[in-house]
Amino acid sequence: MKKSKPLTTGWDLSATKDIPQAWLGYRCVGCSREFPPEGTPTTCPDCGDNLDAVYDLPYLKRHVSRDRVAVQPFRHHWRYAPLLPVSPPPDPVLAVGATPLIAAPRLATALGLSHLWLKDDSRQPSGSLKDRASDLALRHAHITGHHHLIAASTGNAAASLACLGAAAGKQVTILAPATAPRAKQVQILIYGARLIPVKGSYDTAFDLSLALSRRQHLYCRNTGINPVLTEGKKTVALEIGEQLAWRVPDVVAVPVGDGCILGAVYKGFQEARDLGWVDRVPRLLAVQAAGSDAVVSSWEQDHPVEVQARTVADSIAVNRPRDLTKALRAIRASEGRALRVTDADILEAQQLCARTTGLFGEPAAVTALAGCRQARQLGWIGPDDRVVCLFTGTGLKDIPAAEQQLSWPRAVPPDLDTLLRDGP
Ligand SMILES: *Cc1c(COP(=O)(O)O)cnc(C)c1O
Ligand SMILES: [Zn+2]
Repeated sequence: MKKSKPLTTGWDLSATKDIPQAWLGYRCVGCSREFPPEGTPTTCPDCGDNLDAVYDLPYLKRHVSRDRVAVQPFRHHWRYAPLLPVSPPPDPVLAVGATPLIAAPRLATALGLSHLWLKDDSRQPSGSLKDRASDLALRHAHITGHHHLIAASTGNAAASLACLGAAAGKQVTILAPATAPRAKQVQILIYGARLIPVKGSYDTAFDLSLALSRRQHLYCRNTGINPVLTEGKKTVALEIGEQLAWRVPDVVAVPVGDGCILGAVYKGFQEARDLGWVDRVPRLLAVQAAGSDAVVSSWEQDHPVEVQARTVADSIAVNRPRDLTKALRAIRASEGRALRVTDADILEAQQLCARTTGLFGEPAAVTALAGCRQARQLGWIGPDDRVVCLFTGTGLKDIPAAEQQLSWPRAVPPDLDTLLRDGP
């Protein structure tokens, strides 16, 4: 692997050459084979597993302090540029990252907790945490000379790539299950991406998009295939650390589909620990819908399990998790655990969260909360543990799911006496 470039004085977006570069290349999470940083990576040609971006952390430790990061003038996730594989765009148009960490005392009480925060990624430019990954993918595509990107998605990754692709002036092709929520398909189309609805599951769309990207040499923003996505998503962990003044929480709860966010949260905290920014990695609680529990079952049975996914939480409906190795590593190495919650638990958590915090999340986004409630009941989370829940996407993208639990008030004639007499 190549040597790190020498450090100059500081870094800011107007002088990206000043950012200390510590990225060395990739390492396979299955067989540990190493790969150079050039070109566009896919999966390991030897064992087929996924790659991890590797940094010269001892070098960074000597030259970049957490206090240095904190004084960066820009309020988006490129403030962590030394820990990213690509340099920031000179002019980030849509500021991705730097989402609020919201204290939720009344929700905490309802769940039997004393300290609970929600990391609100529903207010990213396209409305989900996926923007962190798309932002890096677009920059990487640009640097590697690609003008056209492709992704298979359950909806959010697609909406995200379409959104940020439009901002960056890139062409985007999306393959999504024809059953993806209407709002997410509308997002893809309104941003001007080419949408190919696939008659089949996310997994079918995934395989098809991979074949198409290889045939037409498109930049592939597919989970698992592209290790750069993990690097974008790990900024959520770095932000949580910084927002809690580098006092890591006891537990971080993560909704899990492919397992990419989970693996990324672990990698973010692990690198922060290796740099001496935090003293440990929090225990990670991986939460899946009971009808889409391949990661939970794989963790329980200690070998890869596939399922036929069926859940109201479309963003985490996955038959075959594409980032399984990283997901299982995250659970085990953090002394975490995985558990499943029912669709009824998820919809209940959606309503409870909205009513106690003012945050309306899509079903996948509140799945971590439903998991916290269960983990608290099981005693795995203690009453005084400091808990952060990832809140990964806005509820406005899936109105039909939320509607299931609402009863509609009757319209009244515009007359005060009638309203007071039989009004709602
Ligand atoms: C994609 C997504 C997830 C799950 O992320 P994975 O990396 O697939 O595990 C959770 N919540 C939302 C809103 C998502 O869009
Ligand atoms: Zn390998």
